[in-house]
Amino acid sequence: MADVAEPVEALIEPLPLRFFGDQVLRRVIAPVEDVDGALVELSERMLVTMEQNNGVGLAAPQVGRTVRMFVHALGDEAPQVLINPEIVHFDDEWVYSEGCLSIPGLYYELVRPGTVHVKAIGIDGRELEIEADELLGRVIQHELDHLDGILFVDRLSGEARQHAHLELAARVAGTLGANDPMLTGKNIPVLRRKLKIGL
Ligand code: ZN
Repeated sequence: MADVAEPVEALIEPLPLRFFGDQVLRRVIAPVEDVDGALVELSERMLVTMEQNNGVGLAAPQVGRTVRMFVHALGDEAPQVLINPEIVHFDDEWVYSEGCLSIPGLYYELVRPGTVHVKAIGIDGRELEIEADELLGRVIQHELDHLDGILFVDRLSGEARQHAHLELAARVAGTLGANDPMLTGKNIPVLRRKLKIGL
């Protein structure tokens, strides 16, 4: 008999990350219409990619896929794959030093709502509702922003915003103009008004 052990399950290949400067990170992603096998496979590859990069959350555009879905690594109880997520209610405020796998090395303290009530579709195709606070609440808001082409640096103000802008402009020097929406995050004021948060 051969003594080579059979693999217990097929190896799930991680996907390459997309970084700041990649226009896919500025796309507003259309809702998913059907939860099918391809979506299940993508969610598995995203979970592996997130784990490999020591992330706590990952949205599909961060691996170049225009699918309205993100994954997270928090809370044993909460479903880890959220499709077509929507914040239906939010409350309080919470400060947290936020970072992003697509913007390595930059962390800024950011105020966002502390508690969010979210509706989404799970990877089994069923509707789900989550009440999340602290880190899970933060990850959900950060990843949902990705699905609307918004990066956490867009939500900074004052000196932190200037610092981030200079740092990111240097990273993409020669590839983007100074007024490129990638740098200026033009769509943010609209969202700020919608959420009524003073960021
Ligand atoms: Zn991110």
